[in-house]
Amino acid sequence: TSRIAEYDPEIWKAIEDERARQEAHIELIASENYTSSRVMEAQGSVLTNKYAEGYPHKRYYGGCEYVDVAEDIAIARLKELFGADYANVQPHSGSQANSAVYMALIKPGDTVLGMSLSDGGHLTHGSPVNFSGKIYNSVQYPVNDEGYIDYDEVEALAVEHKPKLIVAGFSAYSRTIDWSKFREIADKVGAYLMVDMAHVAGLVAAGLYPNPVPHADVVTSTTHKTLAGPRGGIILARANAELEKKFNSSVFPGNQGGPLMHVIAAKAVAFKEALGDEFKATQQQVIKNSKAMVDVMLQRGYKIVSGGTDNHLFLMDLIDKDITGKDAEAALGKANITVNKNTVPNEPRSPFVTSGLRLGTPAITTRGFKEAEAVMLAGWICDILDDIENDSAIENVKQQVAELTAKFPVYQH
Ligand code: PLP
Repeated sequence: TSRIAEYDPEIWKAIEDERARQEAHIELIASENYTSSRVMEAQGSVLTNKYAEGYPHKRYYGGCEYVDVAEDIAIARLKELFGADYANVQPHSGSQANSAVYMALIKPGDTVLGMSLSDGGHLTHGSPVNFSGKIYNSVQYPVNDEGYIDYDEVEALAVEHKPKLIVAGFSAYSRTIDWSKFREIADKVGAYLMVDMAHVAGLVAAGLYPNPVPHADVVTSTTHKTLAGPRGGIILARANAELEKKFNSSVFPGNQGGPLMHVIAAKAVAFKEALGDEFKATQQQVIKNSKAMVDVMLQRGYKIVSGGTDNHLFLMDLIDKDITGKDAEAALGKANITVNKNTVPNEPRSPFVTSGLRLGTPAITTRGFKEAEAVMLAGWICDILDDIENDSAIENVKQQVAELTAKFPVYQH
């Protein structure tokens, strides 16, 4: 029973409409997931009322004895999950975690080498429109024509530009990254290595993608993508007393004020879930579903960047089909299949139009899709993309989407 429904029907309607949308649409946005009702319960708890500036047992406010328990547990579980010696669970988001690390390790004007946004990097990896490209001297590495990171090119750029910080990690890259190669390059030029594992954190936690913690000076992540927790950020590292102090003071008081204790409690619940066997099985299925979708698309004559996937996402390259990413996204949207347009290697179009799509399987897997459903879904996507003007094909898929989503409810009522 809702306490909002009668008091604030406008907001209640927005929430219920969004709930219905999440149930009725097939979510293929690679950075999204459905968090558990347990996580949402923690997020909706009285912990939201508490100011707790500082860190457990060293707060600037009284009355923190119970939120200290929650934050201690969150930190301990997070360290266990990724084999880290240090963890900070306070960053409000992935971007805030990254900005705190930059501020801890380098000074304004210093050089940062990161993957370019159009090749799969994140805004915070040095994009000119973001703080990371405005405050720091940003140099960006691309992917090669096949869609892979070229470590020789990264090394050549590092030798040429002598960055103080190298950033590895991505928002749109379907292959396994060799963290040790980045470590070698960083060591060669005396740079710090930061890995932003936001997209693959759940796969790493399940042991299905290489863990960057042993290789990087610092690892950042979001908690809401493959990891399936509440919206938020984290910072991890191996033991290094000097750096730990810098990271902590850079998060608070450097970048943030009071931590969101309700979100930290929700992170703790999500980490407990991620430590369990069921989570591991789900992450395995995420990758199986991703590969199953790619197989169908290749059979149907669609080009996949790098020719396939090792993880939860893949990129469709539509250049040879002469469909824009924007139009493809809109056509699939009409059938209640949600994807996002994405740039592809050697992108001829603007970032607002693009020639590709990014698709990811975390959300469909959380709602229970296995290979059979993934294969069916990939076929429907091809049916629509084969002729995006064909409204009856779109209508036909829309009906099948309605039947399938009804069979796999996200939240049981
Ligand atoms: N890092 C990577 C690699 C991401 O893909 C994202 C989000 O898309 C972020 C950081 C930023 O996370 P947030 O949106 O929580 O700031």
